[in-house]
Amino acid sequence: MFDICSADRRLGPRDRPIFGWVDIDDYRARPGKKLALDDIDPQATPHWNPSDRAAAEERSAALNLRIEVLQELLWAQGKERVLVVLQAMDAGGKDGTIKRVFEHVNPSGVRVASFKKPSDLELDHDYLWRVHQQVPANGELVIFNRSHYEDVLIVRVLDLVPEAMWRKRYRHIRDFEQLLVDEGTTIVKIFLHISKEEQRDRLQDRLDRPEKNWKFDPGDLVQRQHWSDYMAAFAEAIEETSTERAPWYVVPANRKWYRDLVVSEILVQTLEGLQMTFPPAPPDIAGMVIPD
Ligand code: ATP
Ligand code: MG
Repeated sequence: MFDICSADRRLGPRDRPIFGWVDIDDYRARPGKKLALDDIDPQATPHWNPSDRAAAEERSAALNLRIEVLQELLWAQGKERVLVVLQAMDAGGKDGTIKRVFEHVNPSGVRVASFKKPSDLELDHDYLWRVHQQVPANGELVIFNRSHYEDVLIVRVLDLVPEAMWRKRYRHIRDFEQLLVDEGTTIVKIFLHISKEEQRDRLQDRLDRPEKNWKFDPGDLVQRQHWSDYMAAFAEAIEETSTERAPWYVVPANRKWYRDLVVSEILVQTLEGLQMTFPPAPPDIAGMVIPD
């Protein structure tokens, strides 16, 4: 394990940078390119030898400590805004990812916004109304646990609004996200890609383990019956809305340790890209001594 107290936490063992071991570009959905989700194996660990899970966990731990520092910078500067959009099928690991990747952050500057079935009040407005209220303010990092993408996913699969209506939403969403980017928000969107078999195992686990029973939602079985429709909806939504400045990443997520590693890398590399520094110290403090 590298020295977590070292002055420069970006450096790992033998001065090798902590981040950059995973080429996150490999997971990035190219703007305007077709996305074949079937060709992305959720079980795969393309950047890590699966027999060396312990080393990957060590690397994730180091990355998460770097996230702690980067988030502190974000909060201290109070200038940038960061939005992380997390989408997945039920039991896809959104909660687990949030718990692990952000294990060290300062809750004062971080917020999770969960988007559930819209309330009557929310349904009385356009679908972006509730979303816009939750976007990050200066210095904040906000994680969307589900998001406005539900309005082109579940809404499409369950036929909640006509196609002519949801189809226009791809353009609204691109424009909405561009607005946020233009006004200073950094956006990353992550799809945790699990297989249908993995979902079965995780749902079964929720039934079998008493301490997990509370997580079991019979409604998930209904959604599960629409698996292939969801995959088609995800693929098209990602194709239509992955842009240079608001990219989608498709992360193989059957193996939780690998998912955490890739998501932590995406976060670290995105935050490093902001090249943040601590705000300047007030003038004339050198040598200042606090009086008794
Ligand atoms: P958990 O992992 O704890 O089950 P969850 O994100 O699945 O978390 P739930 O309350 O179980 O949370 O489910 C939220 C449900 O709300 C999902 O089925 C989701 O598709 C649905 N939902 C979210 N946004 C919308 C929307 N705009 N229109 C219709 N349904 C929506
Ligand atoms: Mg649920």
